[in-house]
Amino acid sequence: MRHLLTGTIAAHGMALGRARLVQPSRYIVDTRPLAEEEIEGELLLLHRALDTARQELRELRGKLHGALAREVNEFIDAHSLLLDDAELLRGLDDLVRIGHYRPGAALKKQRDRLSAVFEAMDDPYLRSRKEDVEQVINRVISALQRQTSPEERKLAARVGEILIADSIAPGDMAQLAGNGLLGVVASSGSAYSHSAILARSLGLPMLVGTRDALSNIHDDDLILLDAERGEAIVHPAAQDLSRYRAWQREAAIEGRRLAKLANAPTRTCDGIEIGLLANAETAADVAMARARGADGVGLYRTEFLFLKHKGLPSEDEQFIAYRDLVMGMGGLPVTIRTLDLGADKADAAGLSLRGEDNPALGVRGVRLSLRYPAVFTTQIRAILRAACYGPVRVLVPMVTQPDEMIAVRTLFKLARQDLKRENVDLPEKLPLGAMIEVPAAAINVRALLEYSDFLAIGTNDLAQYVLAADRGNDALENIYNPLQPALLRLLSHVISAGRRAKKPVSLCGEIAGDVNFTALLLMLGLCEFSMHPSQILHVRDRLATLDHADLRRHAAQLLRAHTHEQAEALLNRIVGASAPN
Ligand code: PEP
Ligand code: MG
Repeated sequence: MRHLLTGTIAAHGMALGRARLVQPSRYIVDTRPLAEEEIEGELLLLHRALDTARQELRELRGKLHGALAREVNEFIDAHSLLLDDAELLRGLDDLVRIGHYRPGAALKKQRDRLSAVFEAMDDPYLRSRKEDVEQVINRVISALQRQTSPEERKLAARVGEILIADSIAPGDMAQLAGNGLLGVVASSGSAYSHSAILARSLGLPMLVGTRDALSNIHDDDLILLDAERGEAIVHPAAQDLSRYRAWQREAAIEGRRLAKLANAPTRTCDGIEIGLLANAETAADVAMARARGADGVGLYRTEFLFLKHKGLPSEDEQFIAYRDLVMGMGGLPVTIRTLDLGADKADAAGLSLRGEDNPALGVRGVRLSLRYPAVFTTQIRAILRAACYGPVRVLVPMVTQPDEMIAVRTLFKLARQDLKRENVDLPEKLPLGAMIEVPAAAINVRALLEYSDFLAIGTNDLAQYVLAADRGNDALENIYNPLQPALLRLLSHVISAGRRAKKPVSLCGEIAGDVNFTALLLMLGLCEFSMHPSQILHVRDRLATLDHADLRRHAAQLLRAHTHEQAEALLNRIVGASAPN
C-alpha cells in the first residue's frame, strides 16, 4: 500500500530504489555498578572497542580514493580526533574507575553529556556537531557490543538501495555512495550536518528528520525518495513513477545545459558583466570554484582553521593554509576574512573571554581581534606572507565604526615593518575591506568607505541585526526575511555609496547564491556576488535571463514597498514582466 513520509530536505534530487534499513544499535545498557575486581577487565574491553573504532575509521580512509577521499577525509579526521580527545577518554576512564560504570553505560553517559553541550549551542552549524559526537560514540558502542555478541555490523548497502537510518556518519556515506547507494532517508539529523553537506556535494538526495521512517519502512520496500518535495513514498503509485521519470528527463537536460555554462562569461541578457565569486573554505570548494569558472574567492572564513585546531594555529600553519588557497585559485583574487569569532566560540579556539549573555552582540569579529593584538598580528603576518603568492584582499568582519578599520590598518603597517626587517618578501598592495553586517556600519557607510578599499555585505548578519531576529531561530522566519523593506533600503544605500566612491561592493550572504534573489540584487545595483561554489552555474544561468537596465529602472518602486509581502509581490511582477520570452 502506498504511503508517504515527510522530512526536511538536506540534499535535493530524486531516487527510486529498494530500502535498506539500519536499525540503531539495540545495545541494552547494563547499569549495574561494577565490582572493584571487574574494573581493570572492563577498562580493557573499553579500550579494545576504542581501538576497533579507530581501526574502522582508518580502513574507511584507505578505501576512498580521488576527489571523494579529499572531501571525506576531513570528516573522518574530525571523527578520529574525537576518538583521541584526551578529555573524552579521561572522562570515560573516570566513569569506569571511579564511578564504577560499565563501559557501555559510561559511553552512553558521555554521549548524552556531549550531545547536550552541542545541543545548547546557538550556532546551527555547531549545534549540528552533536551528530558527529553521537556517530563516533555509537561506533565505539557497536564495537563493544560485538565483543560480547559477535554479530556482523549491518551497515551495508548494495547498488540501487536507499539507506533508511537514524543518522549516518559521513565516512560511511561516502563509502556507500561509492558502492552505488542512491539516497538517504534519516529519521533524525539536521540539514547543517557534515553528512548533509557531503550528500549535497555527492549529489545524493537526502531527507533528514523523517520521523517514523524506521518503523514505517521495511527492508526491500520500493521507495521513491523525492528530495524536491521532502517526501519518501513507500510503494509509489503509477503517477509517482511518472513524476520521477519526468524529473529524470529534466535533470539530464539541465545537467548538460549547466555543464556548458562552466566556462561561459557571466552576463545579463543586455550584456552587463557581473562578477561571480566563491565562498570557499576547503580544497574541494576551491576545486569546485575553479571548475565552475568563479572570478575569485569572495569570502574565505578563517575561523574554521581556528576551530578545527586545539589551541591557536601557528603563523606557519595559517600561512600554509592561506598560501595553498591563493595558489589553488591560480592568480584569481582571494578575499581572506580575518577571524570572526564571538564569546560563544572563542574558547574553542583557545581564546578565553568572559562569558557573555549575548555573544552575537558582544566581543565578536574585529572586536575580538583587536582585544588580542598578538593573536591578530600572527594572523596578519600569515596573510601578508601568503599574499606574495597571488592577489589577496583582506576582509574585516563585524566592523561598526571607522576607528576599527584604522586600528586594523595600523596593525598591518606594523606587521609589514617587522616582516621587512626580517627580510621576508611582502606584497606591494593588500586591499583592506570592511564587512557591512552591523546596521551602524551600513547607515554610516560613507565614513567607513574613507578607510576601506572595498566592501562586502554580509546579509546573514545584517538581516539579523537590522531585524533583531536571531538568524538561527526558525520561529522567526516571518521576520527574518531578506525582502524586508528596511533591509532593502540599507542594501541599496550601501551599494550606491560604494558606486559613488568608486569602490567595489560584493555581497557574500546566503542570498547571493539563491536564484530567487538574483533579480532583486541586480535591481539594487549589485555587480559582485559571492556564494557557495555549487551555486555558481545556477546564478550564472539566472543572470543570463535578466535585463539589467530594465530591473534598475524599477528599483525606486521596489524601495517604496511597506512590507516584505508587498516587496515580494512587486518583485514577482517586475521579474515576470521583464523576463524574455
Ligand atoms: C554574513 O553574515 O552574511 C556572512 C557572510 O558571514 P557569516 O555567515 O560567516 O557570519
Ligand atoms: Mg557574518
